[in-house]
Amino acid sequence: MSDCIFCLIANGTIPAGIVWQDERVVAFRDLHPQAPVHVLIIPRAHYSGLDDDVPAEVYAALCAAAPLVARATGVADSGYRLIVNTGPDAGQTVMHLHVHLLGGAAMSEGMVRLA
Ligand code: 5GP
Ligand code: ZN
Repeated sequence: MSDCIFCLIANGTIPAGIVWQDERVVAFRDLHPQAPVHVLIIPRAHYSGLDDDVPAEVYAALCAAAPLVARATGVADSGYRLIVNTGPDAGQTVMHLHVHLLGGAAMSEGMVRLA
């Protein structure tokens, strides 16, 4: 989608701190990090979120990417958390499916935006 910021990042039109990518998935640093390591893992293809008939292979690609992104950003051994905000109550602001990968410090509730 030409007006989707994450599509524009995925196709290289808008610069982002890309930490890992393959043919299906791009991972880049969040503009407003909520943890020492805060990366967004997105499919190159546009889906608005979990409710957008996402094919199982897209989920597989996102989940398979997570430990590789963790390794690339140095948090594989210390640990990390994955979050998918879905809809208004979860605070989803970008309507392109994305997984937050958070790590780099011991986590408390306070490191996760709840509203
Ligand atoms: P959501 O709240 O939708 O789950 O998360 C969207 C995330 O995208 C937010 O954490 C926000 O900081 C991040 N974000 C929004 N616009 C940009 C951008 O242009 N570049 C990057 N790198 N992150 C962005
Ligand atoms: Zn998009």
